[in-house]
Amino acid sequence: MPAATPAPQLPGTADLRARAAAALGRCGVDLDAYPAPADGAVPARTPLTGGVLARLAATTPAQADAAIAEAHRTFQDWRTVPAPRRGALVKRLGELLAAHREDLADLVTIEAGKIRSEALGEVQEMIDICDFAVGLSRQLYGRTIAGERPGHRLSESWHPLGVVGVVSAFNFPVAVWSWNTAVALVCGDTVVWKPSELTPLTALACDGLLARAAAEVAAPAGVHRLLLGARECGRQLVDDPRVALVSATGSVAMGRQVAPRVAARFGRCLLELGGNNAAVVTPSADLDLTVRGIVFSAAGTAGQRCTTLRRLIVHEDIADRLLERVVHAYGQLPLGDPFDPATLVGPLVSPAAHTAMSEALAAAQRAGGKLLTGGERCLADAAPDAAYVRPAVVRMPEQTDIVRTETFAPILYALTYRTLDEAVALNNDVPQGLSSSIFTGDLREAERFLAADGSDCGITNVNIGTSGAEIGGAFGGEKETGGGRESGSDAWRAYMRRATNTVNYSADLPLAQGVNFL
Ligand code: NAD
Repeated sequence: MPAATPAPQLPGTADLRARAAAALGRCGVDLDAYPAPADGAVPARTPLTGGVLARLAATTPAQADAAIAEAHRTFQDWRTVPAPRRGALVKRLGELLAAHREDLADLVTIEAGKIRSEALGEVQEMIDICDFAVGLSRQLYGRTIAGERPGHRLSESWHPLGVVGVVSAFNFPVAVWSWNTAVALVCGDTVVWKPSELTPLTALACDGLLARAAAEVAAPAGVHRLLLGARECGRQLVDDPRVALVSATGSVAMGRQVAPRVAARFGRCLLELGGNNAAVVTPSADLDLTVRGIVFSAAGTAGQRCTTLRRLIVHEDIADRLLERVVHAYGQLPLGDPFDPATLVGPLVSPAAHTAMSEALAAAQRAGGKLLTGGERCLADAAPDAAYVRPAVVRMPEQTDIVRTETFAPILYALTYRTLDEAVALNNDVPQGLSSSIFTGDLREAERFLAADGSDCGITNVNIGTSGAEIGGAFGGEKETGGGRESGSDAWRAYMRRATNTVNYSADLPLAQGVNFL
């Protein structure tokens, strides 16, 4: 791990605006073509300084209605285009994303505050899912089923579903869009995207590149529409009966509002909500590997991943030793300008996120927790409107309400256990169910954690941290995380409708279950 560096210089808002405008320009988007209206504006801010980069016109309700109508109209034809030809659009999109890797990573860093390698990693995730979706476009398999009647063939086929409304969060401003969009497009759906109001510039870049890809392969422009705005704009998408699937990524509070509204109109919902992820560390764990896994998962992305490690459940025999090493590693983490290749911890998304972090740390201490390191704000003189914060570790006497709450900031709560059953119970004793890990050298302990009565999460890892999933697996979690699955494996099925087909090629009409009639 690199040694701590002296307080770095931070870039200024004007420089960041120029860098963002240049990156957007290369993606085919003229930032100056988005004028700043007096009201109804979406301010594009950068967490690096807290400054405003641009004020973009918010999509009006009438424009949103027209965008949904166009996506719905386009779907009527797009669904009949053979899937491998739909894949050609996604193939071209992947090529353009790769060609603009640096531009997109710049925008991710400027808008979400991610350090360079994580921003590049997020763009790589987009390229990877395009590859995956192109392959998928030749593999949307149905089954042939053993029927019970002679002269009959029973099978399943998968058909395009309709318009997919994508609502996304600030912390993965482009990857989540691409998981949904690349898969939805090859499945024959069209997409209307409502990105986070905190990250409109990355959204403009992706929308611009997809429009270019569509033009180049002669696909209809209406396969993708972008809505800029806050939750009211998202609500319009959620409530519109022409939107067949709402894929919503964000907080549990958002999911609680979205899910009943979609259910009320019998629409489909795919929810990717908050996590409260734990790692169990047993006495047989390789502590060198474990410390690296913990620090990346807990302090990486400044604690702002849905899969961030928030709870460390350590065997009491090794707790002091492990925590000493984790605290030491935290002390070495270079914090500052996320464009500086030496930086490992960038800013929180806003000063409000630091307020929430401070309140959670105070609540943890009131509940008997001991703050071992972190929580203090840095670089306040250089960037008074930004929030550069040292990641914190708190040793807790037990799993209290504040530990069960997802605070979207870098706080790692450490708990101890005596038996593995106790550790599994602690892992599961939270409302969320996204990601979990066990660090162990003992096969029996690992398998116990992965078993049906082990971790209840959608993601269960052994000897790696809770974050940093590959696109090939289905991503998502249980309980208040919402139950949705996106990205790889068979997650594509959520974007299609299934038809069960029975064909009678005999001259008789035998009824199922031996029923006689006429
Ligand atoms: P957020 O809930 O504040 O906003 C997410 C999106 O939902 C935004 O686009 C917002 O405008 C929209 N929105 C909010 N209320 C809405 C409503 N009533 N109707 C329609 N749209 C609405 O979340 P955030 O602060 O941007 O992101 C952080 C949260 O997202 C964390 O809880 C994190 O765990 C979660 N997250 C989950 C995943 C996952 O895959 N499970 C991935 C990334 C982030």
